[in-house]
Amino acid sequence: MSNIILLGPPGAGKGTLAKQLIAVYKIPHISTGDMFREAIKNGEPLGRLAASYINEGHLVPDEVTIGIVRERLSQPDCANGYLLDGFPRTLVQAAALDTIGSDLGRPINVVINIACSENELVRRISGRRVCRKCGTPYHIETMKPKVEGVCDVCGGELFQRKDDTKESFLVRLGHYYNETKPLENFYKELGLLHEIDGGTGVQKSLKAAQKIIDEVTK
Ligand code: AMP
Repeated sequence: MSNIILLGPPGAGKGTLAKQLIAVYKIPHISTGDMFREAIKNGEPLGRLAASYINEGHLVPDEVTIGIVRERLSQPDCANGYLLDGFPRTLVQAAALDTIGSDLGRPINVVINIACSENELVRRISGRRVCRKCGTPYHIETMKPKVEGVCDVCGGELFQRKDDTKESFLVRLGHYYNETKPLENFYKELGLLHEIDGGTGVQKSLKAAQKIIDEVTK
């Protein structure tokens, strides 16, 4: 059973790696960022609340984020494993996840931290474009779609996320260093932390992550 967390700064490639891993392990991809964006698109009250934080690059309050993750992890499709991408992002969330995992009998058994240099993060985020319909990520130089501005997967329109502008990105990076990076120690002490190099390309990252997961869950 693989109950996985992908950890790492914004732009490290969590979303891209997540999409590959869920295809291999056939487990649900739980991205709190995607859940918030979906709620914004559908005009839900959760979306209105989340948008006020997300657009500025700030974190959505813990109690809100923890609530949606608790609800999602209790769904039947998480019984045979799940992959968390973008959660937890604070120590409060990590402690809550610990409780949720034991309450549901679905505890985390592997945390993969994707390391990436700050220069590379800035390059990736400033060139990132995302499909409005299915969320597939692209890069204007290194991961171009076949037709400019159009998603290869679903034909949706590609756009730049509001929180990928330089100003918002710097705020997000600040939250990462202050609130999320301390999770590395939290999970190291629990013996769950593994690291991969996020600068080596999608295929190598996938191989490295698979090796770790297969080793832990065999
Ligand atoms: P992401 O797609 O993971 O980069 O998330 C986009 C934005 O959603 C973040 O910059 C936050 O504003 C918000 N968000 C996503 N996950 C969390 C979380 N675990 N805690 C607080 N805010 C979050």
